[in-house]
Amino acid sequence: MLIVRGAELVWTGSAELPGGEVACGSDGRVVTGPVDGDVLDASGCVVTPGLVNAHHHLLQTAFRTLPGTRGVPMRDWLPRMAAAYAAVGVDDELAHAAASAGLAEALLCGVTTVADHHLTWPAGDGVGIARAVAAAAGDLGARLVFVRGSARDDPQEAAASADAIAAALGGDPTGMVQVAVGPAGVHSDGAETFALLGDVARRHGLRRRTQANEQVDVEVAAQRYGRRPLELLDEWGWLAPDVTIAHLCDVTGDEIARVAAAGVSATHAPGCDVPMGWGVAPAAALADAGVPVGLGTSGGGSNDAGHLLADARLAMQVAPRHPRPRL
Ligand SMILES: [Zn+2]
Repeated sequence: MLIVRGAELVWTGSAELPGGEVACGSDGRVVTGPVDGDVLDASGCVVTPGLVNAHHHLLQTAFRTLPGTRGVPMRDWLPRMAAAYAAVGVDDELAHAAASAGLAEALLCGVTTVADHHLTWPAGDGVGIARAVAAAAGDLGARLVFVRGSARDDPQEAAASADAIAAALGGDPTGMVQVAVGPAGVHSDGAETFALLGDVARRHGLRRRTQANEQVDVEVAAQRYGRRPLELLDEWGWLAPDVTIAHLCDVTGDEIARVAAAGVSATHAPGCDVPMGWGVAPAAALADAGVPVGLGTSGGGSNDAGHLLADARLAMQVAPRHPRPRL
């Protein structure tokens, strides 16, 4: 048992308890009523539920601030990062080390759940990498949403891998590990990958995640398809309540309404998009339209850290770039 005592304020997520006390049982759950146990002095502190980093790429924790990767256009950044991954060779051991560092950083700033959109896959079914990341989370006591991503992967192989990972890690009764699927975006993957990963999600009851309307995404969708990314996602059945879309920097008012009407969730990652110059999501307008908006750091290769509280402050600082319309 652990008793957190003496806090100035306990914020439960829906209510404020002045001077409250929180007791945690041996299974980590909050318990009510008098308990005995170790006391943690929280004088002068605010106690909150664990924060959620809703969009991360934990592997990039091992690839931060490489030469030629800061403040560059996404069309230059993506191949430079890909070359760095290829030069080192991504394997289970590297995935475990990067995830351990990224998850430790998360826990140190109050985050207890991290959604890891993993996009770099060596040959094989990927189960070793997924298990390595889940083991890092388990060792540190973090909650993990592991997203079997794809970035130009063979569609059939990506789907087979997602199937194998869902079978290996899905259905965790403790809820400490969840599995999701997610192409990197319409700039990297075509309709077949979106369809096949969608089939895997349906079979296993997983959520779907992707990224849209960052710099390269809009450019490539225009060049390759003559369309906007969100039009393609809609056509491919990926604007739906079980989908979370990261970034959403360059979106029009009509697109915000479309995302809201479809019941899609969004994530905002100013600590990645602002310093890189890739845009700023109109987070307040999305939220006002009824879109649930989570905050994420995105990966350490674009965000040069993974500190969600620092990025929450940045989110407040950049919010006036998209003033709310007067009502
Ligand atoms: Zn991202």
